[in-house]
Order: sequence, then structure tokens, then C-alpha cells
Amino acid sequence: MNLLNTIRFDTYNELDVTVRTRLRKDSTTAPDFDPSARFALQLLDRLPDICARHGEPAVEFVDKGFAFRSHEPERSSTGIRWIQRTVGYEIRFLLRVMYRAATMRRTDVSPPSSILEGEWPVCSKCLLARRIWQYIGHAIVLAGIGLLIAVLIGTQISTSDHLPVPLGLALFPGWFPCGLVVATLLYQHSANLVLFRPITNHDKVWIRTHPGFADAFESDGTTSEAR
Ligand SMILES: [Zn+2]
Repeated sequence: MNLLNTIRFDTYNELDVTVRTRLRKDSTTAPDFDPSARFALQLLDRLPDICARHGEPAVEFVDKGFAFRSHEPERSSTGIRWIQRTVGYEIRFLLRVMYRAATMRRTDVSPPSSILEGEWPVCSKCLLARRIWQYIGHAIVLAGIGLLIAVLIGTQISTSDHLPVPLGLALFPGWFPCGLVVATLLYQHSANLVLFRPITNHDKVWIRTHPGFADAFESDGTTSEAR
């Protein structure tokens, strides 16, 4: 393996693999286009038939765009630093918004997302995990709807004017908003089939990969650059 193209993280047994990207042409024609503010990247390299996360044979290539958000641009020499919108990122973002709101400071609750599009190899483990997270998300959404229906029926047949306190708390703030936030995070987690390092360059992106994927990528002779 050419170690110039990969960086080993022994703690997690992960390798960073560099893939080539470019700005999507139709996204650069707008008169107010500013690639440091928002962009759409396309993957140029054909990835091997190996799942990047598990290093197992891919069962399909998923055509998908991953979302990133701008973060601390002053830390990057190229002026951009975009973080993948993983569950960890979203929780930190939510906490930051809540903290700023609590301290009466203004914050943009919905900053723009940039995307990285491509065809990504995924294995059966990835697809199973995605289904499980989605089912748990569905279960949370449906549980709340079931609870609402139960409350509506209960108020029709009950002589009391008040909801039982536990039932009320289960609905609010239990299901709304807490349960729905958790369901949204689970849907987001299920969609992040590939994990990336922060994007600091429009021409190349680093994927966090299983060593099996890195080996296959290198042996394919893909022309990637050293980090
Ligand atoms: Zn996989």
C-alpha cells in the first residue's frame, strides 16, 4: 500500500483516503456564486466495490449527496472548512443554538449546507444498520401519533376535563419536541453511510475508511494525492 495516500489512525483502525472532487459545473454559473459561502461538489474517482466503513464487498452503489456545514473558516488556509452533518455535529449545533438563545445572543438557526455528491459503495451491514435506524425513527413518530389518538379518544369518553399528567408529559415535551428531535437525528444518522474529514479544499476530500477499503482503493491505482 502506498502510505503517501493514506494516514493511519491506530486507535480506531481507520485510514484516511483522499479522493478527487470538483465543483459541480451548473452550481458555479449563478452570478452571485461564492464557493467559500456554499457549493456543490462532485466525486470524480470511481470507488472500489468495497464498503468504506466496513471493508466488506459492496452490494450496491448508492447515488447520494452528503451535507456539510461551514465551521470556523479562519482555521483553514483555503478559507473553507466544512463539517459533515453527522449526529454528533447536529447535537453540538443544537446545544450551541440553545446556549446562544439562553444568553440572548443572535445565531443563525439554519445556516446553508453544502453537498458532496457521488456514488458510494455500501455493504449489507450498512444497509441493515440504515434500515434499523429508520425503523426506530418510524417507531418514535408512530408512537406519538398513537398517543395523540389515544388522548383524543380518551377525552371523548372521559368525564374529566384534564389529561392525566404522565400522559400530558409523554406528549409534551416527551414526544414533541424531544421524541421528534431524536427521530430526526436517527434519520440523519441512517443516511450518513460514509464518513468524511472536514472539507478544506474543493479539489479533494478525505474519507474515513476501513483499511480493507484503503487497500482496494490503492490497488485500483486511483490517482489520489497525499494528504
Ligand atoms: Zn458497510
